[in-house]
Amino acid sequence: MANTPYPESYYAASANAVPPRPALQDDVETDVCVIGAGYTGLSSALFLLENGFKVTVLEAARVGFGASGRNGGQIVNSYSRDIDVIERTVGPKQAQLLGQMAFEGGRIIRERVAKYNIQCDLKDGGVFAAMTAKQMGHLESQKRLWERFGHTQLELMDQRRIREVVACDQYVGGMLDMSGGHIHPLNLALGEAAAVESLGGTIYEQSPAVRIERGANPVVHTPQGKVRAKFIIVAGNAYLGNLVPELAAKSMPCGTQVITTEPLGEELAKTLLPQDYCVEDCNYLLDYYRLSGDKRLIFGGGVVYGARDPANIEAIIRPKMLKAFPQLKDVKIDFAWTGNFLLTLSRLPQVGRLGDNIYYSQGCSGHGVTYTHLAGKVLAEALRGQAERFDAFADLPHYPFPGGQMLRTPFAALGAWYYGLRDKFGM
Ligand SMILES: Cc1cc2nc3c(=O)[nH]c(=O)nc-3n(C[C@H](O)[C@H](O)[C@H](O)COP(=O)(O)OP(=O)(O)OC[C@H]3O[C@@H](n4cnc5c(N)ncnc54)[C@H](O)[C@@H]3O)c2cc1C
Repeated sequence: MANTPYPESYYAASANAVPPRPALQDDVETDVCVIGAGYTGLSSALFLLENGFKVTVLEAARVGFGASGRNGGQIVNSYSRDIDVIERTVGPKQAQLLGQMAFEGGRIIRERVAKYNIQCDLKDGGVFAAMTAKQMGHLESQKRLWERFGHTQLELMDQRRIREVVACDQYVGGMLDMSGGHIHPLNLALGEAAAVESLGGTIYEQSPAVRIERGANPVVHTPQGKVRAKFIIVAGNAYLGNLVPELAAKSMPCGTQVITTEPLGEELAKTLLPQDYCVEDCNYLLDYYRLSGDKRLIFGGGVVYGARDPANIEAIIRPKMLKAFPQLKDVKIDFAWTGNFLLTLSRLPQVGRLGDNIYYSQGCSGHGVTYTHLAGKVLAEALRGQAERFDAFADLPHYPFPGGQMLRTPFAALGAWYYGLRDKFGM
């Protein structure tokens, strides 16, 4: 049977040691079978176990193999489309409920880290960096919007102030969110998996769900075993493939790439990001970066629509890094990797039920570290019969990409090119 290892990333190289878990070789029974051990699956499993459910997690490769173990590590609040857009789409009542939840994911991460003593280099403070006056105006209205929903740890920064926290001359200003921050993403996933097991949950690695037998007592089949469950949670996101055709139809896997420098040393690292905040710019195709625990620069950016793996990641991302920090021109790149996130047309997550007993959450469209942790809680609430918050997400409208599965990739790339041009010329 195929044994899929972690991709060669800085995170895999610096992961806390955990032995591989066995593949499912039997027929087992459980209350909830979770498909996928990324943050969505692990957060769901943890909330369910804390509420007395018996949980079995099936992971096709290793815990955190997908986006959850490869991402930029940035704890970014709210959703990939903000609450004002939600308000215009679905009205004030539903927007109010979704707005109240928009800052909960970051709190859940911090609670998890403290409660289960997860070693993942958690740091507070995230910067949104504006490259144009238009983007700065957008941040000003975002601050007002977030404050309306009770989120107050925000500071607008002018050009002088942002230069104190980021040694980059590209920005006209920005916004600091002290409830944002950053983590070693794979170590967070590994710590959450250990917490799942400490509560009696079972995780099988190298155990892809290859077929779901739907019905009153659904069964999930893997190559060598099966899980009979009362409920199934589908949490495979951009790596799910066509296991659930209804979910593949309205979303598109996209790749984004990350590089990591050699260790910079305390002194140089401090000149770049003196307070150790993470940064993302406000472009549609955004760059994001931060320091690692051992003072490397982790820099990500770019989007490959349709998730083909680019041949030379360093050639794509290094020039972006040097544009932000020309002072790093002689610094070596130690790691480069790609990972897939799941894009929806609205850029809002897709949440729902298939029949009575199959639940799913996917497609947070780039910003998912906080949302996926919230999703786990909301899914667990729904399985316990409290579905008000779940329904607020499930009622969001979703549409297929123009052009269907054949043409969605070029159409989305065209759209991104247009928005990229708007960013470039400050339109
Ligand atoms: C390179 C990159 C950088 C990013 N940076 C950030 C960031 O800085 N901040 C932020 O907020 N968001 C970021 N994101 C997005 C964020 O990482 C994701 O939204 C989030 O991790 C998704 O979690 P998930 O659990 O839904 O999916 P994943 O983490 O992808 O997990 C899905 C899991 O399901 C498994 N799986 C799939 N199919 C099956 C099957 N049939 N059977 C069993 N298992 C299966 C996969 O192997 C995988 O482990 C980034 C994404 C990428 C790719």
